[in-house]
Amino acid sequence: MTPAKRLAGLGTTIFTEMTALAARTGAINLGQGFPDTDGPAAVIEAAVGALRSGENQYAPLPGVPALREAVLEHQRSWYGLEPEDVLITFGATEGIASALLGLCDPGDEVVVLEPYYDSYAACIAFAGAQRRPVTLRPPGFEVRPEDLAAALGPRARVLLLNSPHNPTGRVLTGEELELLAAACREHDLICVTDEVYEHLVYDGEHIPMATLPGMSERTLTISSVGKSFSFTGWKIGWCSGPAELVAAARMVKQYLTFAGGTPLQHASAAALRLPATDLRAVADELRGKRDQLCAGLEAAGLEPLVPAGTYFVNADVRQDAVQFCAALPERCGVVAIPTSVFYDDKEAAAGLVRFAFCKRPEVIAEAARRLANLRL
Ligand code: PMP
Ligand code: GLN
Repeated sequence: MTPAKRLAGLGTTIFTEMTALAARTGAINLGQGFPDTDGPAAVIEAAVGALRSGENQYAPLPGVPALREAVLEHQRSWYGLEPEDVLITFGATEGIASALLGLCDPGDEVVVLEPYYDSYAACIAFAGAQRRPVTLRPPGFEVRPEDLAAALGPRARVLLLNSPHNPTGRVLTGEELELLAAACREHDLICVTDEVYEHLVYDGEHIPMATLPGMSERTLTISSVGKSFSFTGWKIGWCSGPAELVAAARMVKQYLTFAGGTPLQHASAAALRLPATDLRAVADELRGKRDQLCAGLEAAGLEPLVPAGTYFVNADVRQDAVQFCAALPERCGVVAIPTSVFYDDKEAAAGLVRFAFCKRPEVIAEAARRLANLRL
């Protein structure tokens, strides 16, 4: 079987399919997670300025210096971290791919929270590695010590972490992170941590894995401009951490895309330099949208599992969620995603549906009205 055919079996086409379905049927798209408004105008102006001032050729391989400095400053001022090095990537997606390809040997095992973002399974497969899931189960989606212990074999090499977590909306607690950190220290694992939703937290706080004892020296932290600043189409991301881990990712990235998005890298530096209050305002606005959609789901007879972070809420539809989502656009003009596509163990979330709430309040209100018409 060709790699393309094997990848097709990993469910990686769900976002494309669902967004195409929404376009075809005119349904409201609460499937693929992207905002329906632009990020800050000042950042757009910075992009226009960069385009007009000749910033249109290859960036240096590690990234535009102004953005690399802005990432270091962000890690320092928000979390007190002092990463040795930083690499700018084509979205967090390329950071994840570069890290896994640069750090895993064929046959190595990658311990990963399940459900997981779709590119993880594909990138682990590209590296010839194996995934060892630690399953988070509804309704609480907690990390259970016994599941973690069962996933840790002698070939374990990387812990691939994601908090705030897509698709569950969990923000892992200090205790859960310490459990995972202890496993990394004990089994000498590298931690690759995907923190793209770091600023979309509504209850509790985001604790970067690299801030835990003994972790900064073994953790590669990945984030991007997409979620924090509502520019998902820009695909400007970064990874930071120990020089050796960043160098491994850089070596791979050099041959994936080399360097790109020069004007958007400059604008992303401007985004990261916005006052912290702007980022808090984004979270405050999204908290309101979360509450609005959760109330709408509840009124429609669905049971929302209220998320502490990200822009996704899962709801229990008390029936087969794959069939439910396939019929939803026709039945009521809404697109959503069956959460089981993010699981290896399809039964673990068979009745759950993931809805994105990063939409204008009037769009959420209309979606809620349509769902209520289902009379579930
Ligand atoms: N990780 C997670 C958990 C995500 O939800 C996304 C969203 N697409 C990404 C990574 C990719 O980020 P980017 O758009 O910066 O590549
Ligand atoms: N992160 C978004 C989601 O989980 C979009 C992912 C994508 O389009 N690849 O819905």
